Amino acid sequence: MSIAFSDGFNIGTLSLYCNFETREDLFRLKINRVRVVKRADGYYAQFCFDTDRSEQGEYTGNVIGLDLGLKYLYKDQNDNAVVYPQYLRKSEKRLKKLQKRLGRKFNKDKKPQSNNYHRTRKRLSVLHLKIQRQRKDWAIKQARCVVHFSDVIVDEDLKVCNLVKNHHLAKSISDVSWYQFTTWLDYYGKIWNKAVVSVSPNYTSQDCSNCGHRVKKSLSTRTHSCSVCQTEICRDKNAAINILKKGMSILGMEWQNSEKRGLGVSPSKAIFQDSTFGQKESASTEEKHGEKTASAIEGKPNIVSGFL
Ligand SMILES: [Zn+2]
Repeated sequence: MSIAFSDGFNIGTLSLYCNFETREDLFRLKINRVRVVKRADGYYAQFCFDTDRSEQGEYTGNVIGLDLGLKYLYKDQNDNAVVYPQYLRKSEKRLKKLQKRLGRKFNKDKKPQSNNYHRTRKRLSVLHLKIQRQRKDWAIKQARCVVHFSDVIVDEDLKVCNLVKNHHLAKSISDVSWYQFTTWLDYYGKIWNKAVVSVSPNYTSQDCSNCGHRVKKSLSTRTHSCSVCQTEICRDKNAAINILKKGMSILGMEWQNSEKRGLGVSPSKAIFQDSTFGQKESASTEEKHGEKTASAIEGKPNIVSGFL
């Protein structure tokens, strides 16, 4: 299979490699736009088409508040944390090693750099790409998992500009993962018709989740201890509860601590069960179509890409 470009993009004809399902889709669908992307390991073509992907979600009655962290991706209101996996850290180490090696090979007096330099440079960019993909893949899987097991998901509305203000956090592996994680939370929420709410992160770590008293603390203070109601819990758990409470109040519901009173979300359960009935008819017809496109998704939602 090959793809020929006849417009201003003077690249001519390229061979197109893709799996069987993508190939079928390419002939069947009305493609609106083709985008060619250059990556360190080759060229990729992204085909854009209109699709309506919605699947019938399973409703569990769980609500979750997420506090995004630096040591881990998130911690929820029940103290469950998802830690960055070992393989990401290992790759980071290899990245540092290669970067050092590249620095040694660089000769500022030499105009075309040596072949060794360019070989190392290529290896470095392929590694960068690999890490980028590992991180993204992992963040997407985490988002899928969270939305699968919860009906209401509340996270922080972290704007990149807010993060850049704090220069200690500005360049961290986390902000990339955060962005992808929250983007895909929204996406899976739409597909499975679940409520994903983003709340403002103001004071979520300062306020007491039990009585509302504002306890000022620095970034290094890891426990929240309230002088008014004597609550003493992990700083991130406190934040997660505050985030969850904020989100539930946006939805017009009240959250009660499940540790004390069992699952206190019966009103939300009723509401979300109602909304599934409306979706059922459309879900059954769209399901097959939606699943097929899902397998080929790379990059942004609704874009199917194959290898060129
Ligand atoms: Zn308190």
